[in-house]
Amino acid sequence: MKEGWEAIIGMEIHAQLATETKIFCQCAANFGDEPNANTCPVCLGLPGALPVLNENVINLGAKAALALGLNVNETSIFARKNYFYPDLPKGYQISQYDQPFSSNGELVIMTAERDESGRASEFKPMTIRIERMHLEEDAGKNVHEGLPEVDKYSYIDLNRAGTPLGEIVTAPDFRSSWQAYDYVNHVRRVLQWVGASDADMEKGNLRCEANVSVRKIGEDKFRNKVELKNLNSVRFMQKAIEYEIERQIQAHENGETVSQETRLWDEKNNRTRVMRSKEDAHDYRYFPEPDLQPLKVTAEFIERVKAEMPELPDVMRDRFIADYKISYNDASQLVSDKDLAAFYERAATASNNPRVSANFILSELLRELNNAGKSAADSPVSAENLAELIKTLDAGKINNNQAKEVLTAMFADGKSAAEVIAEKGFEQISDAGAIEKIIDEIIETNQNQVAAYRGGNEKLFGFFVGQTMKASGGKANPKMVNEILKVKLNS
Ligand code: ZN
Ligand code: MN
Repeated sequence: MKEGWEAIIGMEIHAQLATETKIFCQCAANFGDEPNANTCPVCLGLPGALPVLNENVINLGAKAALALGLNVNETSIFARKNYFYPDLPKGYQISQYDQPFSSNGELVIMTAERDESGRASEFKPMTIRIERMHLEEDAGKNVHEGLPEVDKYSYIDLNRAGTPLGEIVTAPDFRSSWQAYDYVNHVRRVLQWVGASDADMEKGNLRCEANVSVRKIGEDKFRNKVELKNLNSVRFMQKAIEYEIERQIQAHENGETVSQETRLWDEKNNRTRVMRSKEDAHDYRYFPEPDLQPLKVTAEFIERVKAEMPELPDVMRDRFIADYKISYNDASQLVSDKDLAAFYERAATASNNPRVSANFILSELLRELNNAGKSAADSPVSAENLAELIKTLDAGKINNNQAKEVLTAMFADGKSAAEVIAEKGFEQISDAGAIEKIIDEIIETNQNQVAAYRGGNEKLFGFFVGQTMKASGGKANPKMVNEILKVKLNS
């Protein structure tokens, strides 16, 4: 960022809560079904149909709110947000306004700046104020077909209309695009972790918007902000924010006005462009939804949700670092996915070697999983089988390269470490007597080289190691071969 300027960024995330049915009716909340298959008079907005709140929305909403450090309010009020759009059959969205479901949150995220090549500097904690997470229904979807200049058709699919959303709004606390990036990833993972949302951006069940403005360092007023929408991935969002910061600073420095508008990311041209200007600003005329009671949540309910909450990823990461003495980076990677973290913990305990377990999982196993398009939950190698392999390695029965080869084979056909080792004939000879016998023979048959070595040609040591390994069929424990050879040749 140009010297003397700072960026002011606030984030809004819409996360679809992972209920089976919609928020105010019993239609399935399925992604990808036949268009308009999951509709009824309530979500079609037919006259006289009345909304009934889905209890599981409150459960998942409370999980999400608590996992993000928000306070769940005892009373919240549903409100009508009025606007006209073809995908909104009622002409209003049931949302929440001045009394949201949860508010006043503080969330600690870990964040780092990245250099040109994407390498992160040291991750440091940063506290983000989350103003609120309110509950609301989603709108349907307009589907466009054909090019505007040919025959263009637009269709309405109302399967999504009425699916439950949590809208998470932060204070303008971010000062860089990477902070916003780390925040969205944090929220995504936490929501998946507690089971509140699938948080899959590709399926559109997590959507984020960024409000971006810039100002001179030392100014206390905000300048005009731009809302960035339709951001299809966290990386595109980061790029869009970065672009927008530079664009706005440039404009201000050239004496141009930055207009308050909505822009989107044009990934083909790597720039943001105007979607709509301020003139279209909505007046939503919010008022309390007359068809729904105020939502009351008891303290006992909150306590119960808290008690059922799993250990959160950041807490688990810090515990891994403390208990298992692994690095911050390794621990962070291991808690990037709940199943992977559980897999690691089982392997670390069963093998009694947490560090080597982390290495094997993060390098070897993850590579195999990625290649096979699988996750830790459906790994063909169980945590217990991996632990067995690591124990065999620790006992010196096989070497590191062999262990890697064994893991690949275990992954391919689901066999145990012992089976693969036996099949490959990898069992190392770690019996000192057996190795000595081989070495005695090598010395016996290579008297010239022995004399040369003893006469000062130390380079020949490698020759003896090679001969011994060859004679053992590559199975002799290399460390022991070295030790025994030294003793015998120097005696
Ligand atoms: Zn319905
Ligand atoms: Mn919203």
